[in-house]
Amino acid sequence: YVFGRKKATEVAHVVWEQVIQKGDMVIDATCGNGNDTLAMLKMVMNDSDDCDGYVYAMDIQKDAIESTSSLLDQTLGLKEKERVKLFNICHSKMEEIVPKNSRVRMVAFNLGYLPGGNKSIITVSDTTLSALKAAERILMPGGLISLVVYIGHPGGREELDVVEAFGSGLPVSDWVCCKFQMLNRPLAPVLVFMFKRE
Ligand code: SAM
Repeated sequence: YVFGRKKATEVAHVVWEQVIQKGDMVIDATCGNGNDTLAMLKMVMNDSDDCDGYVYAMDIQKDAIESTSSLLDQTLGLKEKERVKLFNICHSKMEEIVPKNSRVRMVAFNLGYLPGGNKSIITVSDTTLSALKAAERILMPGGLISLVVYIGHPGGREELDVVEAFGSGLPVSDWVCCKFQMLNRPLAPVLVFMFKRE
């Protein structure tokens, strides 16, 4: 239930649940401490032993990859962890690591810096835009590009402008693009969703 959730990421997870199906392949474009990766894995995995579904998770920081890996170690069994592929790369290069002809159900971005980490390593408009273009190319019909965009830090609003301009430019025949913004919390992160029609 969306309005019962306080955090933007929790609201995003409610939306993801409506789109992701068991057995899907999804991409976490900014895995950070691994919370979103873990949430995605739960959505793609079958309860049965065959453990379908994959999360391809990436981050430009080695520390973030280690942090995600240790969260997964603490939370998951070996077989489940095998369903997460971790990559220490820039998300603009996502097409280099996702197997050709994959049916990618979702590409999710949680922009900004790593909480509790180095605040100077931050997503920037140029590579965010390149990554959005890559996501547009690899997403399957019926898929979702999801973004949590922070606007409280320098450069945050400019990055939101770039994200919004990208979404506004997608053809209406193929895409449904919308944003979710807290009117009574002006500095709260903004959610942007771009659904690719079936
Ligand atoms: N989703 C994460 C979680 O659940 O813990 C939080 C992500 S954090 C807000 C943003 C992350 O984006 C940081 O870990 C940062 O290193 C990463 N990042 C910054 N620029 C990047 C880039 N060009 N490509 C991939 N990751 C990037």
